Amino acid sequence: MRTKAEPQADGSYRITGQKIFISAGEHDMASNIIHLVLAKAPGGGDGTKGISLFIVPKFLVSEDGSLGARNALSVGKIEEKMGIHGNATCVMNYDGATGWLLGDLHKGMRAMFTMMNEARLGVGLQGYAQAEAAYQNALIYAKDRLQGRAVTGAENPSGPADPLIVHPDIRRNLMEQKSFVEGARALTFWAASLIDRSHRCDDAAAEGLVSLMIPVIKGFLTDKGFDMAVAAQQVYGGHGYIEEWGMSQFARDARIAMIYEGANGVQALDLVGRKLAQDGGKHVMAFFEMVKAEVKSHEGDDRMKGFAEPLKAASKQLQQAAMFFMQAGMKTPNAALAGSYDFMHLMGHVCFGLMWTRMAKAAYLALDDGAADSDFLQTKIATGRFYMARQLPACGMHLARIETGAEPVMALAAEAF
Ligand SMILES: Cc1cc2nc3c(=O)[nH]c(=O)nc-3n(C[C@H](O)[C@H](O)[C@H](O)COP(=O)(O)OP(=O)(O)OC[C@H]3O[C@@H](n4cnc5c(N)ncnc54)[C@H](O)[C@@H]3O)c2cc1C
Repeated sequence: MRTKAEPQADGSYRITGQKIFISAGEHDMASNIIHLVLAKAPGGGDGTKGISLFIVPKFLVSEDGSLGARNALSVGKIEEKMGIHGNATCVMNYDGATGWLLGDLHKGMRAMFTMMNEARLGVGLQGYAQAEAAYQNALIYAKDRLQGRAVTGAENPSGPADPLIVHPDIRRNLMEQKSFVEGARALTFWAASLIDRSHRCDDAAAEGLVSLMIPVIKGFLTDKGFDMAVAAQQVYGGHGYIEEWGMSQFARDARIAMIYEGANGVQALDLVGRKLAQDGGKHVMAFFEMVKAEVKSHEGDDRMKGFAEPLKAASKQLQQAAMFFMQAGMKTPNAALAGSYDFMHLMGHVCFGLMWTRMAKAAYLALDDGAADSDFLQTKIATGRFYMARQLPACGMHLARIETGAEPVMALAAEAF
């Protein structure tokens, strides 16, 4: 907000100020780095609304496209971090650097928001990608490490012990990871297809739906992605804590996804404070209708009961929470904000319930058609059943918390902490 842009006679701007936390702000992996910098140009007024967006290259580019002089920008510091050591997080100083306006003057926030959906989807993907890699490692370890005996009788009688994977609690852990990463993959692909539809087919409904979904994908997938990276580390016992095995790196690297591109608390705020009411609540209503139609489409299909019924119940809980916000939130805004984080997770679970219902149906249909990869399809169905039976019930807990409103959260005066 303190970075200034002064207009020059040739149409360019002189950019002066400092930016912190700039990912890959400096490196030698590309011949040039094009910085997108928000700065205040004269006449924009106070606040973020009148801010403008500028292109500020590390090297100025000549008319023929060749690289010219170095621009007046430099790295002030490279941050020491908990993880993501492959990415230099820089303090950038702009000392009268040459920049050019991108988009309309004083409309920089809007210009920046055009990349927001994609950027936040990308960070959501980072969240579960860390979990996926950690899961693959944990799975190998669980099959390899011999420890204890299966309670139902030795499964590796010729060996000194059974592999970890025989133990129900290790199975629980692995199923939580597996059902998360597969559900998350489906959800991000779906959101990416909605973004494509909104860009390429001018599909306003797809755009509305994905803008509702983005804070959920960013917040839920990165929170759970971190939890799952830690769960995978747990499978290793003590070796999970030892650097040699590499599991702590997943946990350290996954942690940032919960923070950057808007901290997850701010994603929840965006969801409840902005996205729910956007366009008169049209998009959230469309989401509820979509889930309802999905549930209805499985009526009379006994195989799908274990999916359609819990999805219906979870969706009702989500609607009840939204209704609570509409009624209580009108009177006491804190009541909605105190429940926003739970709402983000509640909606995340419903989205996963929807994805697993669709995946299970697709798997059943493929089995009916005599698909060759029946083991894969049966595994898909069983993994989905686990999610519906063991993870979806979290919706009830989130709803119960939401309905307590602001009072338990705000009871203490700041001095009492
Ligand atoms: C490694 C790293 C790389 C980064 N890369 C980039 C980059 O390339 N480009 C870039 O522009 N930025 C980058 N960032 C900045 C990053 O996006 C911000 O740090 C992040 O969005 C959080 O903002 P903040 O640090 O100002 O925290 P704050 O906004 O101070 O938030 C602190 C806490 O308060 C909560 N909070 C804040 N406001 C509210 C509210 N109104 N209601 C409820 N809770 C609230 C938040 O959820 C959070 O838990 C990077 C940061 C890091 C650490």
